[in-house]
Amino acid sequence: MNITTILANVRAVLAVSLVPFSVAGGVGALLWAMNAGIDAEMAIFPITLANLVLVAVMERILPYRREWNRSHGDLRTDSLYFLTEIVVGGLMAPLLGVLTIIIGGWLSAQMGGSLWPTHWPILAQVLLATVVREFFDYWAHRSMHHYHWLWRLHATHHSAQRVYWLNATRAHPGEIVYRFCFVWVLPLALLGVPKDVLALATVAAVMADAYQHANIAIRLGPLSWIYSIGNLHRWHHSCDRHEADKNYGNAYIFWDTVFGTRYLPNDREPPEQVGIAGLEAFPKGFFAQWISPFRWARIRRESTSVAQTRLIRSK
Ligand SMILES: [Zn+2]
Ligand SMILES: [Zn+2]
Repeated sequence: MNITTILANVRAVLAVSLVPFSVAGGVGALLWAMNAGIDAEMAIFPITLANLVLVAVMERILPYRREWNRSHGDLRTDSLYFLTEIVVGGLMAPLLGVLTIIIGGWLSAQMGGSLWPTHWPILAQVLLATVVREFFDYWAHRSMHHYHWLWRLHATHHSAQRVYWLNATRAHPGEIVYRFCFVWVLPLALLGVPKDVLALATVAAVMADAYQHANIAIRLGPLSWIYSIGNLHRWHHSCDRHEADKNYGNAYIFWDTVFGTRYLPNDREPPEQVGIAGLEAFPKGFFAQWISPFRWARIRRESTSVAQTRLIRSK
């Protein structure tokens, strides 16, 4: 066997094993940390970070599209979004804790006991928390595609010109707050989900979610019925809204299957050009994107003139 064949075999093994390895490794590491008496919330951060490093490295070793590994003038903006996500997420975690205690406690008192089935086996509770959270995240995401004023916020995410790992945190702060309230505060905090259950459900989802935008040539096989990652999410970034208004699942795809929005053609690859058709003048800068929802009419006008200029030049 020559070196080329060996490398091809290694790539083939990596393509099918990376996602299961990350999920099993992340959940295993968290269980170990919890058994060692380490606070679950504290353990999630290094586990997530280690997984992100693995994903970033694997983009170089096993790229899906080589040109998506090259900067499209977006690295500075995406890095700032990465930091924003950490800061905003960090600020909201205590808020979630307070709301859980106040509102969840009040609800439990009204109902005469905990709303969450704490007597269930932990695995069943983790599955229930996953299904509930994904349900709300599915509708939060779908609503952002449906309602124009929410699309203005979500457009920042779809304005990316390539699909790579840093896109995962490219979200307008308004979108982060909206989805945080919709997904965490409403269903999970109010139901009073125990901290350990939430931590396990979170780590299992986040490990796979890191592959949602990753420019890695993973092969999902039957996992394409479980996870909303790889090609499924690349279709979601299509310039064609008929294709982009599909695959809303955050980490998982099962609610898309239930509501008829799962989209994965097996006769062609997802598009090379990604972004938003008709919004060519969408700002590329971090702060310009922050104020973009309030300058929508102007961006549309400028996009029309950019498109007209391109048409004239192409003639
Ligand atoms: Zn979307
Ligand atoms: Zn995306």
